[in-house]
Parts: sequence; C-alpha cells; structure tokens
Amino acid sequence: MSPYNAPLNDIAFALRHIAGLDELAEIPAWSNIGLDHTEDLLAEAGRLATEVIAPTNRTGDQTGSVLNGNGDVVTPEGFRQAYQQYINSGWTAVSADPEHGGAGFPLVVDVAIQEMFTSANMAFSLCPMLSQSAIGTLSAHGSLEQQHRWLPSLISGTWTGTMLLTEPQAGSDVGALTTRAELQADGTYKLWGQKIFITWGEHDMADNIVHCVLARTPDAPVGTRGISLFIVPKMLVDDHGKLGERNAIRCIGLEHKVGIHASPTCVMELDGAVGELVGEENEGMPQMFTMMNKARLLVGLEGLAVAERAHQQATAFAAERRQGRRSDTEPGAQAPIAEHPDVRRMLLDMRARTEAMRGLLYLNAAAADQASGHPDPAHRQQAHHRAELLTPVSKAWCTDQGVEVASLGIQVHGGMGYIEETGAAQHWRDSRIAPIYEGTNGIQAIDLVARKLPVDNGAPLAALLEEMTGLDKNLDQAVGAVAEAARWLGKHPGDDALAGATPFLQMLGLTVGGWVMAQAGDTAGRLEAAGRPEAAGPQQADFWRAKQVSSRFYLDQILPTAPALLPAVTSGASALG
Ligand SMILES: Cc1cc2nc3c(=O)[nH]c(=O)nc-3n(C[C@H](O)[C@H](O)[C@H](O)COP(=O)(O)OP(=O)(O)OC[C@H]3O[C@@H](n4cnc5c(N)ncnc54)[C@H](O)[C@@H]3O)c2cc1C
Repeated sequence: MSPYNAPLNDIAFALRHIAGLDELAEIPAWSNIGLDHTEDLLAEAGRLATEVIAPTNRTGDQTGSVLNGNGDVVTPEGFRQAYQQYINSGWTAVSADPEHGGAGFPLVVDVAIQEMFTSANMAFSLCPMLSQSAIGTLSAHGSLEQQHRWLPSLISGTWTGTMLLTEPQAGSDVGALTTRAELQADGTYKLWGQKIFITWGEHDMADNIVHCVLARTPDAPVGTRGISLFIVPKMLVDDHGKLGERNAIRCIGLEHKVGIHASPTCVMELDGAVGELVGEENEGMPQMFTMMNKARLLVGLEGLAVAERAHQQATAFAAERRQGRRSDTEPGAQAPIAEHPDVRRMLLDMRARTEAMRGLLYLNAAAADQASGHPDPAHRQQAHHRAELLTPVSKAWCTDQGVEVASLGIQVHGGMGYIEETGAAQHWRDSRIAPIYEGTNGIQAIDLVARKLPVDNGAPLAALLEEMTGLDKNLDQAVGAVAEAARWLGKHPGDDALAGATPFLQMLGLTVGGWVMAQAGDTAGRLEAAGRPEAAGPQQADFWRAKQVSSRFYLDQILPTAPALLPAVTSGASALG
C-alpha cells in the first residue's frame, strides 16, 4: 500500500470556496475561535494522519482485532499508541462543547479533520467516530448531571463511546428490538438482551467504554414508540467519577468481515447490566434521530476518505507501471500506463468524483453549522432544511461513490489490483460496509423521498434547485430533470415513489456534485486569472488548472448520467414486476 499524503490544499480549497468557511468566521459563535488558523490545525492533523495513523492501516487489515478467552479484545499492533497520540492532541474534541472540554469549532472543520484520519485508517477512525455519536447524544439529551459525569472523559478520549441498536431481528427495523430494561429501587435500570454488529463494542485502547443502548421497558408501546435510551458503561463509575466494578455487559463474539478488520464488530451480551435512563422512557427514537444526522454525515465521509486514498494509490501505481507504447516512447521501452488515455480517464474520473464528494459533504456540514450557529432564526431554519435535505444524499451517494472509486482503483492496477499485496483491494473491501450501516442506502433514499422532499411543500428542494441554476448548461439540464422527477414523485406517493427513491437520490447526488464542481472550476479559473501564476508559484498554478480540468470532466462526462436516470425514477412500482 502506498503512503497517504494529506490533501491539505484540496481540503482548504473546499472549506473556503465551497463550504464558505469565511462566512462562518463572521458568526459570533465562531468569530473568536481562531478560524483564520484553520490551515495550521489541518496541517497538524494531517501530520498525525500521515505519519502515525496511516502506517497502521495495512497491519490492521492483516492482523485484525482479536477476541481472547477472557472476553477481552486485543487491537492490532500500533493501535493503542496511535490512539494515545490522537487523544493527546485532542482530536475527539474539535467540535465538542467547550463547557465539557471541547474546542467548540464548527462541524465543518471537524469533518475536514476527520476526513484525513478516515483516509489514514478507516477501521481506526470508527472508534473516535462512535465516541462523537455518544457525545452528540448525551450533549443533546443527557441531564446536566449525566453530562458532567460522562462527557469530559468521552471528549478527552480517555473513554470511548458506542451505539447499541441492532439485534438479530432488528436491523433496519429498529422498532423490533427486544432488549429489556427494568427500573430498580435506586432509580437505575438493569438491562438484559443481546446486541449484534456493535462497532468497537470492546477493545483495549481506553479505560472505559460508554455504551448508548436502546432497550424496551416493561409495558412499553410496541414498535419505535416504545424504545428508551440508556447509558450502560463497561466499568461502573462512582459519584466522584472513579472507575469501579465491571458491569454485566460483555463481548461474546467478533464477526469475520469483508473489510475494516481492525474495527472489532462485537456481539454484546447484557446480563442484568446497570444502566441510566437518558431523558424519559419511550423517547429513545427521537433522541437517536438528533445524532443520526452527524453520524450519517461522518459515514458519508468514509466514502470520500477511502476514495481519496484509493486515488492517491492508483496515481502512484500508474506512474510506475509500464505497459505498451506511446508515439514518443523510446524504441524498446514501455510507457507508464498513466500516459494511456483510458488510464488517464480512470484516474480523472476517480479524482473528479472524490472532489465532488468533498464539496457536497463540506457544504452539508456548513449548512448544519449555519443551522446551529447563525444569529438570525429565519436563516437558521432555512439552513436546517438544507442540511436535512442533503444528509441522506451525503450518506448514500458518497458511500456508493466511495465503492465505485475504490473499484476503479483496482482496475487501474490491473491484475495486481486483485492481489492483496498492493493494498488496492483493501480500500474496496473497507469501503463496502459504508452503504450498509448507519441506515442502509435504500433506507436513506426512502428518507429523502418520503420525509425530506415533502417538507414545507417542497420548498427546501426548490430553493436548492434555484441556487444551482444558471452556472452551466449540463448542470441546468440535470437540475431540470431533478425538478421533473420530484414533481412526479410528489404525484405518485406510496410504492411508485418508493420504487424510484434510489435513482432519485443518485440523480440528486450527481447534480449537487455538479453544482460544487461548477463552482470549484469557476473559482479556480478566477484565481488563476487574478493570481498571475508566476507570483503564486508553479505548484499553485498547476493546482488551479487541475481543478478546472476535473470540474470540466465532471460536468461533461459524469453529470450527464443524472438526467438519464429520469426514466428509472418515474417508471413506478409496476416496472418491478
Ligand atoms: C460492520 C458493521 C458495523 C455495524 N456497527 C453497528 C453499530 O455500531 N451499532 C449498531 O447498532 N448497529 C451496527 N451495525 C448494524 C447496521 O446498522 C445494520 O446492519 C443495518 O442497519 C442494516 O440492518 P440489517 O443488517 O438487519 O439489514 P436488513 O434490515 O435486513 O436489510 C436487508 C436489505 O433490505 C432492505 N430493507 C430493509 N427494510 C427495508 C424497508 N423497510 N424498505 C426498503 N428496504 C428495506 C435494506 O435496505 C437492505 O438492502 C453494523 C453492521 C455492520 C455490518
């Protein structure tokens, strides 16, 4: 596997010119936080990602995490040390609340930083990512006492967090879960049941694990209305925050997976485990929904992050590997495959999709920031709708693109791509889970069509389509097709709309991707024209030119597949037989 280089210029460009970091810097919540030093922060994170975390990716895949006879999970060599360095630099805390030890940065900066750690080692990055989900849940719904007890150690990273939703009969259908919680005389609960597929449910990198568990109290209503949320720590914690006895929650098995081998996917048994209720009984589902947006964005980020690394690796391979000849190849020599037009096409396709994903995800995160931090309530509401609309697209479209780009990375390698030794296949194997967990991509498409499109009579989508109009003719065509598809979906609710949900989501993802690529191309063109390449330096001029090339390629060669999806969106349920 080739080394990872943090793409600091690309990240800074997307933050500034697509996500509008400078606008966020003017919002009072962030005007004093030092957003003008974001690039230093990115460089520091990039160093850790490149030098410390990226080298653990290959060994992590080969060794995997292992469950020993005592129920302890041993992580691969180097993981504990890498995690210590990660938390020593405070990377779990970037966007967390300063009141509990967080740094209070906007989410979009956190997302940009997490992109690098995820590219460096996706399996590793899942551990702090799950902690972030637990932090988000407790920040929004925990009592003040619970926040003081659990948040500081989660935010510092000395403890990690998990989410325990899935059971064998309750995957997408979370309402079918049966884990039981019974109130005890002292106000705590005891929980019994079995959870499966729990990411980083047990490991040796932290002193304690704070499990967020969904369970059902006796006499709770059936389905999602009867679910409650509990904090169930691995080690019990006394009133002074000191670790006490081991709680009755254990890992009883690890799954053998296609990829992310270093991320332990645990079967967890709760056998009278002590838990604390979060909020009120039966509020578990709405509580989960508030943290899902961030979790979905961070899973979408996995698509981008793996694509970035797969592209870097394919580019390095294509420069080395020689096959065939070009008109200027010396007699008897072979040309690097990177010189063949079809290989250049594959590499550019990978790069353009990667840049489009980055633009969409950062835009989505910045909308969430505007929704939480902007002083004007009307602006906050609009931004909230924008973030809600984009979230299922970020999750599903980016994770599908991640698999596609990683697969192209294998193709660039030829036969060696199919041989594990190169590492190209690991990117593809790792990326394949992201369309499945955190709500399958099919469920995201249903969310988009059935819940997000009807909001405010379709106003959020209409506003987005209007903003995307008038920049580029291929983009206008795609926007027109999305508008037509949305009208058709609105007139055909029920199974007809559900049958077209996934092609509609793909269409919208391709189109928003087109919008951010059109903006990137325009901006780079303007910067090049204004910046006199001699003054900016040859590297900067190359960077701007490359941005224009990938923008044009996306708009001419990738975006036209969006309007082509219109018949698939509008064919209705009868087309499915
Ligand atoms: C490696 C890994 C890590 C995971 N980590 C966690 C974790 O940390 N915590 C946790 O709680 N869970 C975790 N999960 C579970 C994951 O979230 C579920 O696997 C996922 O939600 C899908 O559930 P399922 O596997 O039961 O598939 P199913 O729900 O059985 O889905 C099978 C297929 O049917 C489709 N489908 C299902 N219902 C519908 C419907 N109503 N309409 C249309 N299509 C439908 C799905 O889209 C999918 O294509 C993890 C899973 C894996 C594999």
